[in-house]
Amino acid sequence: MSNPAEMNVYENAEARFEVAAKKIGLEEGLYRYLRYPSKEITLYIPIGMDSGHLQVFIGYRVLHSTVRGPGKGGIRFAPDVTLDEIRALATWMTWKCAVVNIPFGGAKGGIICDPTKMSKSELERLTRRYTAELSEWLGPERDVPAPDVGTNEQTMAWVMDTYAMHVRHATTAVVTGKPIELGGSAGRREATGRGVMICCDKALAKLGMKRDRSRVVIQGFGNVGSLGALLMSQAGYKIIGLADIHGGLYNENGFDVAKMIDWVYTQRKPLPEFPGGGTKMPAREILFQPCEIIIPAAVENQITTENATKVQARILCEAANGPTTWQADSIIDGKGIFTIPDILGNAGGVTVSYFEWVQDRQGFFWRESEVNERLKDVMEHSFDEVVRYAETHGVNNRVAAYMLAIDRVARALRLRGIYA
Ligand code: NAD
Repeated sequence: MSNPAEMNVYENAEARFEVAAKKIGLEEGLYRYLRYPSKEITLYIPIGMDSGHLQVFIGYRVLHSTVRGPGKGGIRFAPDVTLDEIRALATWMTWKCAVVNIPFGGAKGGIICDPTKMSKSELERLTRRYTAELSEWLGPERDVPAPDVGTNEQTMAWVMDTYAMHVRHATTAVVTGKPIELGGSAGRREATGRGVMICCDKALAKLGMKRDRSRVVIQGFGNVGSLGALLMSQAGYKIIGLADIHGGLYNENGFDVAKMIDWVYTQRKPLPEFPGGGTKMPAREILFQPCEIIIPAAVENQITTENATKVQARILCEAANGPTTWQADSIIDGKGIFTIPDILGNAGGVTVSYFEWVQDRQGFFWRESEVNERLKDVMEHSFDEVVRYAETHGVNNRVAAYMLAIDRVARALRLRGIYA
């Protein structure tokens, strides 16, 4: 197993911040200010389980920054959630919103639980109690949650309803990633995967490559991985490797992704058992198979100093947050792999979350084609800005994205000043 010191995602986030902050010459005071979250809340959440037992769950909400707008960031339900992880994810949200230049800060929440082992009513009680405890901190102008690993549109509907009951009026803009019937946006469900594809398209154009000659491997088959795979296969990419928590499957003839979605989500069968399958392997190994593009779309710390040399792809497009440790960056760079860092690669989700928030506040909803067009515009422009910044400053895409983001937040902070 990899070095545990390499696995702390908050240190990962801090290390990247440090490098980029130094490169832009960020003044000492702002460095200290932006390095730490502005607020961290720990909750002990009592829930009556279906069995009649009372269980206490630990939950967090971290607000990293509200310098450029309300906090924005998902809620994660997973057994291995830690405060450090939520801190890192909140910090990344600040930089991500700044990279794509949308007027939000950064936040993240999580509850230590295993949603796969809980009933729907237990999950509803847990979500509602968590939201109720946080109700004075949340709000369309304060902090706006969204789905993440282990949560979905239904979870967001419960967040919205609980908040609405507390403030005594329907407030759709308190949360994004909601069902369309409750003020959700057309195109939000596919937005992160679509953003990933737009970034891959831009990388292909830059490198003189073609979709139909680009073999893609995707690790993670949830919201981001499965819909990203579907959109990319429909657009002509060949998806030859897929993996989820149950393991990976490699088939150089390519997968019928719609059938795989049916297999996993309708028939509820394990991904590696897909009929006509291919070669089974551990989920992580899928990233090291021969292909042109790898897309980690599951969890953190998948590409480390111990395995980065095994990556064979030409392009690494990070859909998950923090899939590459900071220590592995130089190995990936040394291999000449074109990296689309997470704070750019997966920003399609928060971009359409922003569109959802705008539509909710206006009470005026856009057609899906309008949402997708605006998303394409934001992603392509942001990709160009990051790549241009990297070329101008002689740094890699990741450092460039951080430099651009930190500079944007620092400029806003200097204008606001420090209230005391
Ligand atoms: P999800 O819960 O819908 O899916 C997660 C997928 O990863 C599942 O297929 C699961 O089986 C798989 N998985 C979990 N642990 C794994 C492991 N150890 N090895 C291989 N596969 C594993 O979550 P999601 O919303 O698709 O999020 C995936 C990643 O994308 C996360 O890092 C998340 O923070 C990031 N992200 C999500 C969004 C969004 O809009 N949902 C936006 C930006 C970033």
